[in-house]
Amino acid sequence: MRKKNKDLEQFVFVKNSSLHGKGIFTSVDIPKNKITMPIIGEVISGDECERREEENNVYIFWNGDTYIDTAMSDKIKYINHNCDFNCDVIERDKNSLSLIAYRNIKAGEELTIDYGYEEIYEDCKCGKCKHKK
Ligand SMILES: [Zn+2]
Repeated sequence: MRKKNKDLEQFVFVKNSSLHGKGIFTSVDIPKNKITMPIIGEVISGDECERREEENNVYIFWNGDTYIDTAMSDKIKYINHNCDFNCDVIERDKNSLSLIAYRNIKAGEELTIDYGYEEIYEDCKCGKCKHKK
């Protein structure tokens, strides 16, 4: 059962992104460090995570303890990588994470995070990744 929460998820929407496929965007300004939405999904083991990654499931988050597969989510799975990211991911509880604003974000902006695994920097075309190599 979903309980009504005070996060900003209701203002987050999915549309086509200039970065990659679809992305998630905000329709309101979000101040720095504000929790934007929870990252909730199916909790899976490390082995299961590896198996799903081989099937090209790219919607898996890791919170340090558990792998969280967000493939069934309606919004968060669309978050794109950007080396010039505006959101970060923090711990929420044992089996979920929170998406927070890394800087002040304006209404209409796409929400992005640094995926943080090496292969992403090979595919990313932003130009900033060069500093990471
Ligand atoms: Zn990049």
